[in-house]
Amino acid sequence: MMRVDGTVASDDDGGRSGGNADYGSAWARVKRRLRAELGEDVFASWFARLELEAVAGGTARLTVPTRFLKSWIESHYLDRVLNTFKAEVEEIARIEVGVRGTGAPVRPVAAGVSKPGPASGPLARLHATSAPMPVAAVSPSPEARNAEAGGDLSGTPLDARLTFASFVIGRSNALAHAAAERVANHQGEGALYNPLYLHAGVGLGKTHLLHGIGHAAREAGRRVIYLTADRFMYGFVNALKTQSALAYKERLRGIDLLILDDVQFIQGKSIQAEFGHTINALIDAGRQVVVASDRPPTELEALDERVRSRLGGGLVVEITALDEALRVSILSARLAAVRASHPGFDVSPQVAAYVARAITANGRDLEGAVNRLLAHATLTGTAVTMETAESAIRDLVKNREPKRIKIEDIQKLVASRYNVSRSDILSERRTAAVVKPRQIAMYLSKVLTLRSLPEIGRRFGGRDHTTVLHAVRKIEKQIGEDSVLGDEVELLKRMLQD
Ligand code: ADP
Ligand code: MG
Repeated sequence: MMRVDGTVASDDDGGRSGGNADYGSAWARVKRRLRAELGEDVFASWFARLELEAVAGGTARLTVPTRFLKSWIESHYLDRVLNTFKAEVEEIARIEVGVRGTGAPVRPVAAGVSKPGPASGPLARLHATSAPMPVAAVSPSPEARNAEAGGDLSGTPLDARLTFASFVIGRSNALAHAAAERVANHQGEGALYNPLYLHAGVGLGKTHLLHGIGHAAREAGRRVIYLTADRFMYGFVNALKTQSALAYKERLRGIDLLILDDVQFIQGKSIQAEFGHTINALIDAGRQVVVASDRPPTELEALDERVRSRLGGGLVVEITALDEALRVSILSARLAAVRASHPGFDVSPQVAAYVARAITANGRDLEGAVNRLLAHATLTGTAVTMETAESAIRDLVKNREPKRIKIEDIQKLVASRYNVSRSDILSERRTAAVVKPRQIAMYLSKVLTLRSLPEIGRRFGGRDHTTVLHAVRKIEKQIGEDSVLGDEVELLKRMLQD
């Protein structure tokens, strides 16, 4: 097998004229032709990140970063790529598309999966944080259906646990909750507040409320699409782009409610334009749009002024920091939920009150605290005392006055722990020995600094923010499944925080 990058050339290509460099430059010409023939937009959406990995026995092996891209290219452009490549290099008889950088195939998360329905396609899995549930697809065209063999093109799965029923209401989120419920239960013509725009810092319940809206509206028989920003960027917009304007409008008419999470991550000029069109078209057609972000619409600097004002033109609600009473309620609810599956797990009201007082940051940390207490109780087989609780949540409490941690320090520490160099971490190399520490360093950069995903990507050798997002999710998932890795990452965190 011949590697295109020339690093590991096979030993028998020395005398051949058609060596590695030739495949590489032929491939560059193929890409130029695709760009010229298909246009900048289509090329940027589907081919910009298509790379030639190797050519062997007449088969060109190409790679892309996501399964979604793989299946889309396979179902729409395989012949075209083959013919274009063949025109350059006659021996190419077959094209194979792989997903790079993932190592093992991504498996669905098993916990609590009720119904792996049509939404559990490859990309849905990639994005599922927990129990995937089918999301009503908006009568996708046949080609859209093919795009994700058996998957649905239009939504990110909803988490079954994130419902209105499990959402605890307090002073800081009462308005957001009330607006969310009204929007979810709205019957009849037109939309209520359009869009409903929720914003809050991390872990204050935005995603929880959005999923709650999704569940409730679907139960009421409405056609709902829930999308995270990255999913919107790589799926929805491009699917719509390939439709004719008429089919596009028809599709929009089929949606009752579009929910978009973390819109601050939407980036890229043409995607932002599409985003603006989509929002406008839906609102003009009287469809409900719900959006969440970590900042108010006026501060979405990346977006066009008109889009910003449209986003701010409905009802804008902020969820503020959780007050102590609310923290106590959320914590009690979490403890009760855990006790249902761990009957021996007993936390006294005093300990719960202490934890709720100590952890002020957000709901995610409260959840983390519950998990630590549970781990402690399970490991030692003893009841949770005030002392053990204190030591179990010590580092979460520390987050109150977060020390400023530099991405560079994270890279250095992780590199030294894994016996690679910092420049390896920033490099293009994709061997497992480098990929793993790189992903851990990206994950730590996300959780320990306030840097945005695009910013972190830039600091990791100019990578795309979706690469960072993928790394963060992957490590998050692995930490949940692999306690050795969990401890390792925990240790790194502490070393950085001390
Ligand atoms: P965000 O999207 O704002 O970053 P999430 O919705 O992901 O935050 O919330 C983080 C965690 O805290 C989730 O486990 C969520 O269920 C929990 N949480 C936040 N607010 C509440 C609330 N009011 N009631 C119950 N759980 C909450
Ligand atoms: Mg969220």
